[in-house]
Amino acid sequence: MSLRAPAGFAALITAAGRGTRMGAGAPKQWRDLAGRPVLDHAIAAFAGFDRVVLVVHPDDMADAMERYAGAVTIVTGGATRSASVHAGLQALQGQASHVLIHDGARPLVSDTVITGVIEALQAGAVAAAPALPVSDALWQGRDGMVTATAPRDGLFRAQTPQGFALEAILQAHRAHPDGAADDVELALKAGHGVAITQGSEDNLKITWLADLARAERLMEGEMDIRLGNGYDVHAFGPGDHVTLCGVQLPHDAGLVGHSDADVGMHALTDAIYGALSQGDIGRHFPPSDPQWKGADSAIFLRHAADLARSMGFRFGNADVTLICEAPKVGPRAQAMQDRLAQIMDLDASRISVKATTSERLGFTGRREGIASIATVALIKE
Ligand code: MG
Repeated sequence: MSLRAPAGFAALITAAGRGTRMGAGAPKQWRDLAGRPVLDHAIAAFAGFDRVVLVVHPDDMADAMERYAGAVTIVTGGATRSASVHAGLQALQGQASHVLIHDGARPLVSDTVITGVIEALQAGAVAAAPALPVSDALWQGRDGMVTATAPRDGLFRAQTPQGFALEAILQAHRAHPDGAADDVELALKAGHGVAITQGSEDNLKITWLADLARAERLMEGEMDIRLGNGYDVHAFGPGDHVTLCGVQLPHDAGLVGHSDADVGMHALTDAIYGALSQGDIGRHFPPSDPQWKGADSAIFLRHAADLARSMGFRFGNADVTLICEAPKVGPRAQAMQDRLAQIMDLDASRISVKATTSERLGFTGRREGIASIATVALIKE
């Protein structure tokens, strides 16, 4: 987070609306966007503020507490948008000189847009808000027909965060308990000038389902994705079973190795270390160390998965291929996916385990051992 808000500047994020235009399902601010709620992204944009108040619907209080308690102050909203903002402002009274009021359904607000509002307030404006000039022609219409055109000169599309001197906007709310469409309208009613700052086309408000898809596309453009591959081989030796991707399969031989010789899990673990540029299993668990003799390879995979998360990555997917003539992997592939998912704390639908032979060619074809290759995709949070 590069933006650091000046002392005295607080953020108020509104998320109490029920928004019915999106159809059935959770309100828009709680919908999933790139793996987490829309609201998460909006809150993250204001992480550089010392004080953040989040206003939620009473029905969402438990969820909000679970997700955000400690990071932000959570307040229950009122029956209208104005009443909700008023409740949030009261929680900030005496605690800040300025407040930026942001719509929790605008997840892609940039540091540049936020900074524009802050700078206008620092320059002395009592109120300042981002907007974009209307560039499309404006029409009136009815029943699918244009009934009139309207001039667009001097018209702007309003965005948030809308910034205010805290006392001024609090007074405006008290003086106009019936509220207004937004806080800029209230500030105008109270006689304050409102400076227009630079908005952004990407600062869209999630209103329709199509907006979620657009927001996701915009975010993908900035995604930091890491790929890693892993390869491993273990030779057959005496034994009556092999362990592949955490599942034991009866066989007329075992696999030779320092640990449990789980060739599939080793390839996958190395793929994760590779994606992180963190070497390989041998670097983290040296084979010269006797404590890893006969070890359950789940220890290695769990370490790699935890390391990925501690470095700020989540898993996109993992794909493991086992190369052998025997034993037959197919009937146990689902069990292997489930076991890997459990170890990595991941949904099994993101993990693939499949097998192939090498047409009796080479060492796997001669049944001298089993090889495995694996690929993972990691996504920076
Ligand atoms: Mg190995």
